[in-house]
Amino acid sequence: MKIPIDLKTGSIDAKEEKDVIVGIDLGTTNSLVAYISGENPVTIKSNCGQNALTPSVLHFSKDETIIVGDEAKKFLVSDPQNTVFSVKRLMGKSYNDVSKLKSSIGYEIIDEDKEALVKIRVKNKFYSPIELSSEILKSLKKDAENHLKHPITKAVITVPAYFNDAQRQATRDAGKLAGLDVLRIVNEPTAASLAYGIGLSRDVVSNIAVYDLGGGTFDISVLHLEDGVFDVLSTHGDTFLGGDDIDRLIIEHWENKYIPLQGDEAKSLNFGQEIRLAAEEAKIFLSSHDHFLSKIGNLYLDLDKTTFETLILPVIQKTMDSVRLAVKDSGLKTEEIDKVILVGGSSRIPLIKKHLKEFFGITPDDSVNPDEVVALGAAIQADILAGNRKDILLLDVSPLSLGIETVGGLMDTIIPRNSKVPAKAGRQYTTSVDGQANLRISVYQGERDLVQHNRKLGEFILRNIPGMVAGMPKIEVQFIIDADGILTVKARELRSGIESSIDIRSTYGISEEQMALMLLDSIKNAEGDVQRRGILEAVNEANNILQASEKFIKQNEDILSEDEIVMLRNLTVKLEKAVDSSEKDTIHTAITKLNDYSLPLAQRALDVNISKALKGVKV
Ligand code: AMP
Repeated sequence: MKIPIDLKTGSIDAKEEKDVIVGIDLGTTNSLVAYISGENPVTIKSNCGQNALTPSVLHFSKDETIIVGDEAKKFLVSDPQNTVFSVKRLMGKSYNDVSKLKSSIGYEIIDEDKEALVKIRVKNKFYSPIELSSEILKSLKKDAENHLKHPITKAVITVPAYFNDAQRQATRDAGKLAGLDVLRIVNEPTAASLAYGIGLSRDVVSNIAVYDLGGGTFDISVLHLEDGVFDVLSTHGDTFLGGDDIDRLIIEHWENKYIPLQGDEAKSLNFGQEIRLAAEEAKIFLSSHDHFLSKIGNLYLDLDKTTFETLILPVIQKTMDSVRLAVKDSGLKTEEIDKVILVGGSSRIPLIKKHLKEFFGITPDDSVNPDEVVALGAAIQADILAGNRKDILLLDVSPLSLGIETVGGLMDTIIPRNSKVPAKAGRQYTTSVDGQANLRISVYQGERDLVQHNRKLGEFILRNIPGMVAGMPKIEVQFIIDADGILTVKARELRSGIESSIDIRSTYGISEEQMALMLLDSIKNAEGDVQRRGILEAVNEANNILQASEKFIKQNEDILSEDEIVMLRNLTVKLEKAVDSSEKDTIHTAITKLNDYSLPLAQRALDVNISKALKGVKV
């Protein structure tokens, strides 16, 4: 915080005091808040913890008071029904999206309406993930206020780069509910880069890979920096892969090793919480030692580094597959990556660094605490927004393609996947029926060619289009994604100026898992999709031509001979049959025959009509 002093009087000028804007990393496992102290970002310790990390856990006590953080975490085992964790996974999701989580959590997720936004019941009260996240944010806000002795009203909050519109909106709403004006939603890898000071000087051109392995999620992003501008080129990941999986592998190893040997004694152990804690301890210990030994009851648990590394190799290889995909998607060569940044507690594992070094040929940088790096970067972004650092602009990417439904149920992509945001793109459309007054615009997100395989985000109707023949209206549809990744779709009929728009706040979002599946599906089905698109496009074209032919015959009955009309009708019937056959080539052949025959007739009709018009002018 900067406190301006009036140099003449020596008094503190309170009026000019600037608001502190905090940076918040609202994490799945842990959250934290940071601000700029002097020139540097620092994290704020939570009230009850020694640590800056606040576990993203809430506990509801008998009188329904809510506690957050370390104190709440203590109830995970003793009072699971009233202890809520991993709320971030529920943000912007429906019950259907998260039903798989149900077996791994102790609290109750309501399944009455499977399509609507998910609700959580605690002690007969219902909460939305937004409300629950807002409790975590309130707790961070209070910590910051206690520390800074100043009310905090503005914040920058980070989200994973793959968060969709609904999830970003939900995060924003949670901030609002916590009494925070969320000035910006920033992608986590972008914040991490800022924390490394990358992007703070204008003359650096650089490509950065951000490897983020936390407790339960993994993602990798490739960023490009030029002229002080960050550009997220690509993102990949696995939202159900992290330190918890590594802990589970160690537990499995111990169970296999000790249960047969020590029989009942081992079985009688609490192989739940106690062994889970020992596994995490072993994992962390082996980051800096070669051998771990501990005792639970009479049972000695040991693990050496070589065994540990063999156990976790599949997890690391899985992350490296994503790394390869992200680099490929970025369009860069591996050797063009100048810097690799490590984020998330699990990225401390030496074997991960080794694999990254082998792949990129450079040593990954973990000089900024990987638990804090995102929050520190958010604080820097907040400082930029406070106007304290100029010349810096941030760009992120939209993780899935966005488009509208066109005739025949085809997806017309307007903003392709991995486009930089903020983004603005538009396309012109027209009507397909004479005198059409309304046009429905349905907005979809996804990679498949048919909208039925993608996700509908919303729809609206452009009404009162003035009566015109089909094809005459010029309707411009514009997609605008703002810096927070929120989508606005506008439609405008250019001749009349009528317009309509929608802000996308979808009723529920796409799970990250589904998002990954959608990408995979689009690749798997690419061939079939291309074929289907080809047929649908041919059918659309045929239908347009059939309509036009019908109109042409009606309007030019006096110019055309009876034979010509019969021939035209024959050819249109053949085209109709071809459409029914749904065979692309048959349709195209019939289109060509009809076109070839009608072209000279159309030319003749045009000449007659022009000469009629000219005669009219003379009169
Ligand atoms: P985060 O979600 O970023 O807070 O990461 C938390 C995860 O990092 C947990 O699974 C921790 O067990 C793990 N972690 C923290 N320190 C280490 C370490 N030195 N080695 C391996 N894993 C660690």
